[in-house]
Amino acid sequence: MLISILTGCGGDERPASQSRPAARAAEPLEIAAEGEASFRVEAERFADVRVLRYRAPGFEALAPKTKELLYYLYEAALSGREIIYDQKYRYNLAVRRVLEEVVKHYPGDRGAADFQALTVYLKRVWFANGIHHHYSNDKFVPGFDFAAFERIVKATPGEFPVRPGQTLDELLAELKPVMFDRSVDAKLVTKSGTVDVLAGSAVNFYDHDLTQAEVAAFYAARKNANDSEPVSLGLNSTLVRRGGVPVEQVWKVGGRYTQALEHVVSWLEKAAAVAENAAQRTALEKLVAYFRSGELSDWDEYNVAWVEDKDSLVDVINGFIEVYNDPLGMRGSFESVVSFRDPVATQRIDAIANQAQWFEDHLPILDRHKKASVKGITGKVITVVIEAGDSAPTTPVGINLPNADWIRKQHGSKSVSLGNIVAAYNAVRGGADKEFAWDAADIERGERYSELAETLHTDMHEVIGHASGQLDPGVGPLHDTLKNFGSTLEEARADLVALYYAIDPKLVEMGLMPSIDVGKTEYDHYIRNGLQQQLYRVPPGGDVEEDHMRNRQLVAAWVYEKGLPDNVIERRVRDGKTYFVVRDYDKLRVLFGDLLRELQRIKSAGDYAAIRDLVEHYAVKVDPVMHAEVLERYAKLDIPAYSGFIGPRLVPVESGGRIVDVRIEYPDDFSAQMLEYAEKYSWLPTWN
Ligand SMILES: [Zn+2]
Repeated sequence: MLISILTGCGGDERPASQSRPAARAAEPLEIAAEGEASFRVEAERFADVRVLRYRAPGFEALAPKTKELLYYLYEAALSGREIIYDQKYRYNLAVRRVLEEVVKHYPGDRGAADFQALTVYLKRVWFANGIHHHYSNDKFVPGFDFAAFERIVKATPGEFPVRPGQTLDELLAELKPVMFDRSVDAKLVTKSGTVDVLAGSAVNFYDHDLTQAEVAAFYAARKNANDSEPVSLGLNSTLVRRGGVPVEQVWKVGGRYTQALEHVVSWLEKAAAVAENAAQRTALEKLVAYFRSGELSDWDEYNVAWVEDKDSLVDVINGFIEVYNDPLGMRGSFESVVSFRDPVATQRIDAIANQAQWFEDHLPILDRHKKASVKGITGKVITVVIEAGDSAPTTPVGINLPNADWIRKQHGSKSVSLGNIVAAYNAVRGGADKEFAWDAADIERGERYSELAETLHTDMHEVIGHASGQLDPGVGPLHDTLKNFGSTLEEARADLVALYYAIDPKLVEMGLMPSIDVGKTEYDHYIRNGLQQQLYRVPPGGDVEEDHMRNRQLVAAWVYEKGLPDNVIERRVRDGKTYFVVRDYDKLRVLFGDLLRELQRIKSAGDYAAIRDLVEHYAVKVDPVMHAEVLERYAKLDIPAYSGFIGPRLVPVESGGRIVDVRIEYPDDFSAQMLEYAEKYSWLPTWN
């Protein structure tokens, strides 16, 4: 599964790049990066999005052989990138290719309003891998009309993707409702139960006349309820109607999408030949075998091998994986993420994990709730080299795979946080923080420390937060006892462990932070976010619904209220704007500890009534006046709601016909990268 929240943690977090902490900068920002004077993170903005860039620190220092491996995996990723276009909507490739021809070859006035609108529309198509919004799933329509489209296309000496025997006029007529009529295939994915979800979804996983009932019957007949190791039925095929009955068109070499998959496989084979070790080679070979056979049991075998490859520096995800785009939750969208382990972050996490017992022993919870022997949970931080398909240009910040429950139970799973992606987000988040900070000193400290503060918070939340504490004897698992409030409690508990230690001199002694000012920054930010900033993501009139947002409001509102007698957090108003200013960090730490002790007690005892009362009292309701103020302040900041990325480019350096090194480059023009990919990786036919 994809993890959306910066504090990414296992199981219950749902997709993707969309829901993130709100705070992002208004202006492009320069950050210093290793070995370079500066690196521009923000490249451009259009519509409701902005395009960022990320670096891959440490790439240059890798061994040439490792870089060669990464290069082959990079090519394998990009070779499959077009599959997602066709998976999402049957006209996506046609629309994109027509527009790309125009943008490449149009001889007319490129400054004219219609042409400008056309380029924006194409950028939106690239950004969403299709003509439906990547987050809302609604079709977006061009800012120019059909007459302008027709005129521009006809004036362009390009090669347009007509069907066999079709004229250009006929193609344009076919695309007219597709592009310009908002009501045609209006929604990429509908999951609401009121209509047949297939009829209400434009996604291209099923022939259009197949009904939900037919699909259900098709798979019911193939499901073996007694199989303890069930394959993921439907994961890698399009279901079509042939001769009146449903038939799977399997995505494999020799099957549907073979034109792209043959290239994916050939690059994966090169990668397997230079694998770091036997476990990695085995995994890559099994992935190739699966792409060749299309057998779902081969996919499972590959996943087991992939989970067991724990020590390799390089890792890759490549295949049909997440099922969020399928209204029936069966079919996997193509994606690839190529990465290597972040050595610095790994050291930091190991250092915290090695001291897990010390942290457990010093928690302010009841002694009987402390684990006598605790093991830190060591998630991995990775440095992304390229992403493709459904994970680009918008990307998750964490990934936990495989998805098959039985493999997770029997063989475990791998959970990673995408370190350099998170760093890029952090680099551009200053604007909103500035708006809600009280004075120049707060702002200055935030600019200096917030990236480290957030990183340490996430690490402690994951490594020692979730790992801490134990249940009273005879108490059942969290989700049985605390039900719908279990996740909110558990996320709050992990946050509170991290907050409790954020200003502990222990972290300075361990060399994890230069001073406790880092922790103070985290306190400032956490309070402002929990009481104000995150309301930016709540629609007007709405409640706080999402578990992480509830946990943050619960924590912030509780300590604010309990600290009132001592003025621990002061509410101030200046020029009609509200601010929350931490006055006493040590007392705030004590309050965090008090709430942690109580939440641990609730978890340990399975005290449902207590957590229900806490959540309902502190975490759900929104002060409408504050909410309106926050929305207004954000509106003025003009922060795009969504971000996506330009990927690095890997360039092999050859000598005597062999790759002796690989250079990494950081392109800064989104459109140029998209056109470059179209030029190099357009393997699929327009009409599949
Ligand atoms: Zn968590």
